Amino acid sequence: MADPEPRTQINFDNTEIAFANKSNKELKKTSMLFKLMSNSLLTKLLSSVGLFAVKYNLPFARYAVKQTIYEQFCGGETLLDCQVAIDKLYDNNALTILDYGAEGKSTPEEHDEVKDQIIQSVKLAAANNSVPVVVCKLSGLADNGLMERLQKPGTASEADQKAYVKLYDRVDEICEKGNELGVGIFIDAEESWMQVTIDRLAIEMMSKYNREKVIVYNTYQLYRHDKLAQLKADYRKSQEEGYLFGVKFVRGAYMEKERNRAAEMGYASPIQKDKASTDADYDAAIKFCIENYQTIGSCCATHNEKSSLYQAELIEKMDIDKKHPHLNFSQLYGMSDQITFNLAEAGYNVGKYLVYGPVKEVIPYLIRRAQENTSVTGEMGRELKFIQTEMKRRKL
Ligand SMILES: Cc1cc2nc3c(=O)[nH]c(=O)nc-3n(C[C@H](O)[C@H](O)[C@H](O)COP(=O)(O)OP(=O)(O)OC[C@H]3O[C@@H](n4cnc5c(N)ncnc54)[C@H](O)[C@@H]3O)c2cc1C
Repeated sequence: MADPEPRTQINFDNTEIAFANKSNKELKKTSMLFKLMSNSLLTKLLSSVGLFAVKYNLPFARYAVKQTIYEQFCGGETLLDCQVAIDKLYDNNALTILDYGAEGKSTPEEHDEVKDQIIQSVKLAAANNSVPVVVCKLSGLADNGLMERLQKPGTASEADQKAYVKLYDRVDEICEKGNELGVGIFIDAEESWMQVTIDRLAIEMMSKYNREKVIVYNTYQLYRHDKLAQLKADYRKSQEEGYLFGVKFVRGAYMEKERNRAAEMGYASPIQKDKASTDADYDAAIKFCIENYQTIGSCCATHNEKSSLYQAELIEKMDIDKKHPHLNFSQLYGMSDQITFNLAEAGYNVGKYLVYGPVKEVIPYLIRRAQENTSVTGEMGRELKFIQTEMKRRKL
């Protein structure tokens, strides 16, 4: 792959732009939190005890979580609460991607509730120029066991087939609302044992709603060795059948879980052999989507500076309008502000994934964030490094 010529306009080291929306007090608090999370033993302990304490409503647990890690990574308990974060992001040229944080729900009533929540967020997005997309996580809309049985030959019962119709209807209602109101829907990627079911639904929704505009986006995890080829095959299918292709590309969040399960159950792991292979496929996905941007709406969802820069430089080199709605970047709220705000300042479309929901519901998400920011080697994490540079610059 020929790399674009290096340019110098974007500088991810500019911490003044990265933290312009944080007061000195907020910056100090954020620094404390990332220092705490960098301790792997403490994170392990807090993840297990904290989860237990919040789940069983132990006094102060909810308050303690809410004032710290929740405040850092979430927009609020309700959609209304999120408006403050949405406005603050918009003041700094960044958009918001709303993500109701419920996962792993098991009853049909709970699944309907999650669906209603997502529809509410589509309505809020339609009324807000600063919210172009909302997230749809299928593990909140159906029983995870069901999604697994549906893709495993010979294991789905008649009742499962009926439950699939219900799942289809929930996803369809969300995408139909997105289509009616012109709001994009990102379908998140999950574990490989559910992903075939998710892919199947995502492609059906794309075919139904991406006729004039990209409404539905499927997520491709490039830590899987089969996903670059699948992305290209799915794109070819969209071309043959005459609809626009929507793709969000990520490296993938469940690597350990995937490898452990494959080893325990004795099948070949779907994960790439090393990080370099994941990185190579990730950047190849960027190149493929940007080169076909007229018929692919894409989102480069990563905290990796190299990949973000690679996409930005490719857009410049190809001389495409940076604001074209098919060219997007995204990071999670509370992380990698140096990428988000420096890209936004340079004029690219960039949005923050803003998770919201009751503290109890978002605990699995918060645990993933804490683990991601934990240092196993004792080395300072990248978030903390940037925060400390900015503190030094402000002489705090
Ligand atoms: C906006 C946004 C949306 C997201 N949505 C999803 C989603 O829908 N589904 C999902 O699964 N994840 C999602 N993620 C999480 C994402 O998949 C990554 O876990 C996370 O962003 C870290 O990867 P990175 O690209 O930021 O870069 P890096 O920090 O450079 O890469 C870390 C990632 O590389 C991969 N990796 C690390 N070591 C190895 C190895 N030895 N061999 C092979 N691969 C390796 C893993 O995927 C690891 O998470 C999302 C992330 C963002 C920012």
